[in-house]
Amino acid sequence: MAEPIFKPLPDKPDHPGLEQETLARWEAEGTFAQLREQNSGGPTFSFTDGPVTANRFSLGVHTAWGRTLKDVFQRYKALHGFDQRYQNGFDSQGLWIEVGVERELGLNSKREIEEFGLEEFARRCRDVVVRSSEALKRGSIRLGQWMDWGNDYFTFSDTNIEYVWRMLKTVHERDWLYLGHRSTEWCPRCGTSISQHELIGSYVDRADPSLFVRLPLLERPGEYLVVWTTTPWTLPANVAAAVNPDAEYGRRQNGEWVAAARFPDEKLEDRRPGAELVGWTYRGPFDDLTQVEHRVIPWDDVSMDEGTGIVHIAPGCGNEDFELSQVHGLEVVQPVDESGRFYDSFGWLHGLSTTEAAEQIIGNLEEKGILVEAGLHEHRYPECWRCHTPLIFRIADDWFISVRVLRQQMLDANATVEWTPEYMGKRMDDWLRNMGDWNISRRRYYGLPLPFYPCACGHLNVIGTRAELEERAVSGLEQLEELRRPWIDRVPVRCAECGEPVERVKEVGDVWLDAGIVPFSTLGWENEQRVEEGFATGAARGLTTADLPDHAYWEQWFPADWVSEMREQIRLWFYSQLFMSVVLTKRAPFRRVLGYEKMLDETGKEMHSSWGNTINAEEAFDRMGADVMRWQYCSQPPDRNLLFGFGPGDAIKREFLTFWNSVKFLVDYSNTVGFRPEWAALSPEDVADPLDRWLVERTHAFVCDAEAEYERYLSVGVMREFVEWVDDLSNWYIRRSRRRFWDGKDQAPFRTLWYAIVQTLRVMAPILPFVTDHLWRTLVLDGPDSVHLAAWPEVAEPDRALLEEIAAMRRVVELGRQARSSSGIKLRQPLRRLVVEGADLDGHLEEIADELRVKSVELGQVEAVELHVKPNLPKLGPKLGSGLGAIRQALVAGEFEELPGGRFRVAGHELEADEVLVERGGREGWAVASGDGVTVALDLGLDDELILEGDAYELIHRVNTLRKEQGLELTDRIVLTVPDELRALIDAHGDWVKREVLAVEVNLGDELALEKS
Ligand SMILES: [Zn+2]
Ligand SMILES: [Zn+2]
Repeated sequence: MAEPIFKPLPDKPDHPGLEQETLARWEAEGTFAQLREQNSGGPTFSFTDGPVTANRFSLGVHTAWGRTLKDVFQRYKALHGFDQRYQNGFDSQGLWIEVGVERELGLNSKREIEEFGLEEFARRCRDVVVRSSEALKRGSIRLGQWMDWGNDYFTFSDTNIEYVWRMLKTVHERDWLYLGHRSTEWCPRCGTSISQHELIGSYVDRADPSLFVRLPLLERPGEYLVVWTTTPWTLPANVAAAVNPDAEYGRRQNGEWVAAARFPDEKLEDRRPGAELVGWTYRGPFDDLTQVEHRVIPWDDVSMDEGTGIVHIAPGCGNEDFELSQVHGLEVVQPVDESGRFYDSFGWLHGLSTTEAAEQIIGNLEEKGILVEAGLHEHRYPECWRCHTPLIFRIADDWFISVRVLRQQMLDANATVEWTPEYMGKRMDDWLRNMGDWNISRRRYYGLPLPFYPCACGHLNVIGTRAELEERAVSGLEQLEELRRPWIDRVPVRCAECGEPVERVKEVGDVWLDAGIVPFSTLGWENEQRVEEGFATGAARGLTTADLPDHAYWEQWFPADWVSEMREQIRLWFYSQLFMSVVLTKRAPFRRVLGYEKMLDETGKEMHSSWGNTINAEEAFDRMGADVMRWQYCSQPPDRNLLFGFGPGDAIKREFLTFWNSVKFLVDYSNTVGFRPEWAALSPEDVADPLDRWLVERTHAFVCDAEAEYERYLSVGVMREFVEWVDDLSNWYIRRSRRRFWDGKDQAPFRTLWYAIVQTLRVMAPILPFVTDHLWRTLVLDGPDSVHLAAWPEVAEPDRALLEEIAAMRRVVELGRQARSSSGIKLRQPLRRLVVEGADLDGHLEEIADELRVKSVELGQVEAVELHVKPNLPKLGPKLGSGLGAIRQALVAGEFEELPGGRFRVAGHELEADEVLVERGGREGWAVASGDGVTVALDLGLDDELILEGDAYELIHRVNTLRKEQGLELTDRIVLTVPDELRALIDAHGDWVKREVLAVEVNLGDELALEKS
């Protein structure tokens, strides 16, 4: 046998297998490099990659989702000839990295890190980034993501750090930088304060001790204030008790003062407004440990919803408490150190953590006889987003950037950005309106060193560049390996004001500074000359060969045309980028954003490694394949959570088979009849057959509609168009054309089908890059080597009128099928006639008859016995509102008039066809179905002739099934034996049956059998 024209396809695609094969081919042929070469010098499409934190050692399916979307739209733009940068980024310093290293080394506190040694700690952190970035890169390549691997940016590059320094210097010059002394959420394990944007979503349900404590009043012997707290460790720092000046308070018989509103059933004496309690002094719960004066202060915000209406105030342990201390001149007692342990001055509490102290404090209060009641209290409480330690409040000196001036500028910049989905842009506005000043300092090690050198003379020196550091350094330059702790801490600079040597502050920067500067640092903003491998500095040396471009390059690529990340990035990366871009240029750093919601498991639960429902991307690649994962990601509306899993993956594999089978149909028949397509002939001219013409127009409509969805950055729309298109291709075109492929005398259907599939591969290549390229290599014998090099298909405007005509006919066929299935008569059984009312079907009656296997189709009035009309609520409800009731009543009562086009007149309204739901009961012997103003009635009467014909269809079906079971080739001729009782059937329809099953001879015998002739 001759070599087949197309390489035969298996019954089902082996996704992982063909993907590995395709990856190897891309690698060997340099396909991506060819694409970049091909598009070089074209119009630019600028995409900025949000850096992925390099602290995991395999790609997660969450990350794979975002990476897929990034890849899809970059590939789409590449098909349109856009020149792109393809730079991938890794977030490579900050607490995420540190926490991982601490775990690996078994270090539990900052003291242990310092004992371990900061040089070695920094090297270990870098090592994590090296290993993680390799693993993430491997996973991303397996996913099919085309990036400029090897020229990645790493945020721990000295170059990146210097760019943040410049931004901070600018902020300082504008007087927006300040050292704030305030109460802040603090993670005792990480030993650092937590910024506002890190708090959202970190609240968890917790049960904490609930204590009522009695505090003796100094001037009123035998009388007490009763306060309530859920944080026992704050009691030793108590300084005041706050009352609501307008609320009523009273004294219990045992001398305890409480708010009347809190205890309405109790008999209280000496009732008086809170204002009269203000100024009373009392003995603190731990006066044996601290020496401060305690008094009652007024506070309008004292709640009457919980506790006693008297609030314990510890300015060293709470935000509002601290603010009250500023107003009332209260002492601030800070009980715990950076690691959340009691200072030595707190006697028997010293060294205890806040949780360890709780037990002892409760015991001590009990001994002293001032504990009224102890229990548990359920509430929402914030924990550290990295290590899940419950947060405490501490007073700390942190560096802030004031947003007073920037807030409006950021809102203005955000107004220029196009957000998809739209509501995410509103979320950004909300965040910008409500955010506080940006706390940029962290008391940690492996992060951006804040370049602040406050001098004893009062001058704050802020270093903007490495050159400036070198120029002003007093000593230590020779050991400066990287712009990083501990090395940089050994380089004091000379104060610009007084000339004395000054040390750097110990703090490092918030990681979002590192990521936010990327649109400047990677594009060479204000850099005079391009520096080869200029981004491979500091810790990034040896990990990348990325250049530092010059300012002209920045002008060309800034702002990004498009960025895409998960919704939580609104307050993180989208925000920090916007912030820094507004500081430096007063412009938004991106024109368009695609955001998307969260990923959950397939049952709708959050994925957690401890619940065993997380999926590793590598496992998913092996079990379902990258294309199937990408299909799952791309079918997801971005405004809803993605329920990801192997179950949906299997459903997608089944759904994809329809397309695969269509291609296989073309491959098999082309090989059988010897059809060989030519790339040069890829144009649908001279299409004579109406069905072929329809497929060409339908293909063009698919190309145009999919393009419109890509342009809206909605892959879900592309997937919807694809699924509908495949249904049309397989369930209309191929089914209706099947027999034209049998002998190959006419090559037109082959050319048409080949054309349609090849164009589809180009459209779907961005979403399903492997299988489309695999099929491209199968079908395109002399064209571009890869679908990814073949450009977006240029097609003529589709003939929408023709498409609508065929769509209307298919709706009639669909109604006919409904009528048939309601009657219980098999589709294989021919029927006498179908009556259609309400559709204009000129020229298509034969196709409908053929599809529905009826002898004739008539246009006319359907005489139905019963007509039930109901309001279509989703349509009519909003339109009529309260008027709906009257309409509904009239419809139930049958008081309506039927109008042409499926419309109805009822209770003075004219209702459109889609505003009502119509059910018709058929006459005896008829099956009726209706929808959208069209009604069909199927005559169910059977006679001997019809029954015999039905039997013939049944026989043909059985023989063809048998052919398949016996493994016959499509073209094999057979000798057929049929049971004797079918003699009448063979007499009447023998020739027809022979033709349909390729039999050269039919014999009568005992049972159905066939053999190859
Ligand atoms: Zn922590
Ligand atoms: Zn000075």
